[in-house]
Amino acid sequence: MKTVIVGAGLSGLTLAERILSSDTGEQVTVLEREDAPGGLARSFHVDGFDFDIGPHRFHTFNTEVDSYLREILADCFIRISRKSSVHMAGKYRNWPLTLASVAGLPFPVLWKSFLDLFSKPDIPDIKSFADFIRSRYGDNLYNFFFSGYTRKFTGIDAEKLHVDWAQAGVNRAVIDNRVKADSLLSLVKGMLLPKPVETKFYYPSHGGIQTFCNLQCERIQAAGGELHLSTRVKGISVENHSVSGVVLDNGKTVHADRVFWTAPITILYPETELTFINTLVANVALHSEVSRNDYQWCYFGHEDLIFSRLTIPRNFRADCVPAGRDSVIAEITCNSESEFWKDPKIVRERLTKDLKSVGAIKGDDIIFIDWQRIPETYPVYSLDYKKRLSSINVPQGLFLTGRSGSFWYNNMDHSIAQALSIVQGSEFRQDFWNER
Ligand SMILES: Cc1cc2nc3c(=O)[nH]c(=O)nc-3n(C[C@H](O)[C@H](O)[C@H](O)COP(=O)(O)OP(=O)(O)OC[C@H]3O[C@@H](n4cnc5c(N)ncnc54)[C@H](O)[C@@H]3O)c2cc1C
Repeated sequence: MKTVIVGAGLSGLTLAERILSSDTGEQVTVLEREDAPGGLARSFHVDGFDFDIGPHRFHTFNTEVDSYLREILADCFIRISRKSSVHMAGKYRNWPLTLASVAGLPFPVLWKSFLDLFSKPDIPDIKSFADFIRSRYGDNLYNFFFSGYTRKFTGIDAEKLHVDWAQAGVNRAVIDNRVKADSLLSLVKGMLLPKPVETKFYYPSHGGIQTFCNLQCERIQAAGGELHLSTRVKGISVENHSVSGVVLDNGKTVHADRVFWTAPITILYPETELTFINTLVANVALHSEVSRNDYQWCYFGHEDLIFSRLTIPRNFRADCVPAGRDSVIAEITCNSESEFWKDPKIVRERLTKDLKSVGAIKGDDIIFIDWQRIPETYPVYSLDYKKRLSSINVPQGLFLTGRSGSFWYNNMDHSIAQALSIVQGSEFRQDFWNER
């Protein structure tokens, strides 16, 4: 049996590592487009600074995923308490909101949200992101934060996004299902009767989040698996309705009895016209420490600000920056047509101004900006995305998995859980994207 895995992100590497460790004698080859493994959980090391692709906090309640993670990381991890922020009405506020953090919100916003508690819109058939948020949080918070944030983040009006985008997004933002933030009432309850829920997440004790994938690669190679970096796959070959290999960018075909495809689904099925959002990541290194609150990441809804989220690496691990220095990661979501995707440097001035305006940097503090263009970071859940997905006909022996391969707005733990269940032989569901 020859298995080819396309993509060396968490899904592809977990599949490869587990298949090889089960000692079935199978030949496993992983093909990766980039010159490093890790996919969206990749890290960049520049002049003593460690940057991840935005923030990457690893948290799970799945005991199998938890023990797999500990097995791979062995003792190379630390545990950190989750701290998130949201920037509203010119100030940093804890997320989920606390009584203290809403105290300074403009009175009309507070008053209208209070009224929304008793008269949220009654939307019987919830189809869109807008329907979901308005029915859960009320019109006021929707208009005040969610609608603008979403338009900025996705480039699409909230009415045109599927309700799944809201459900997945709220879960992804909180990462701990004990923290209740899924409605206006639960936000208010959490403010008035705060329950001390401390979410601790894992982070590697050296390097960035990519350390996890590097350790997986070492095991794969030690077990005889092949890993080819800088190898772009452009399609699959099919004979008699079964997959027979993958076709590389250079036209060569690599034979395979089965293929796990974790690269974007749109490479194989462009006719679905499914789309992804790209993220331009600005890794900003700073001469000296900036005093800010201790959030790991903060959301910015204001449409005038170019970034939608900022991450502070030293709040993950102090030595992500050299002693006395600081850094910040800004995420700017866009599509491939945008001017700054083509030439990131044109937004440097605007980025610097916006970072100063929210107190994330001071004066002329920047040592360098390392720009990273990360394609296909988020699947776009248009209103008809499920119909488009269900139109796909998958040949035998091809398995669409992982975040990009199954068009699934997921987290690292979900990619690992999915891979573990595939290797354990649980019936493989091609429509895994429904399980959120
Ligand atoms: C900004 C950001 C922040 C995030 N924060 C968190 C967080 O805090 N916690 C968390 O749990 N999750 C987080 N995630 C999600 C997490 O990164 C993903 O769920 C996970 O990394 C997905 O792994 P994957 O292997 O399924 O997919 P991917 O990482 O997308 O892997 C697919 C791989 O296929 C490769 N590939 C693509 N095209 C080709 C081709 N043509 N040929 C060969 N190879 C190809 C890619 O380079 C990539 O390596 C975040 C994601 C983003 C974008």
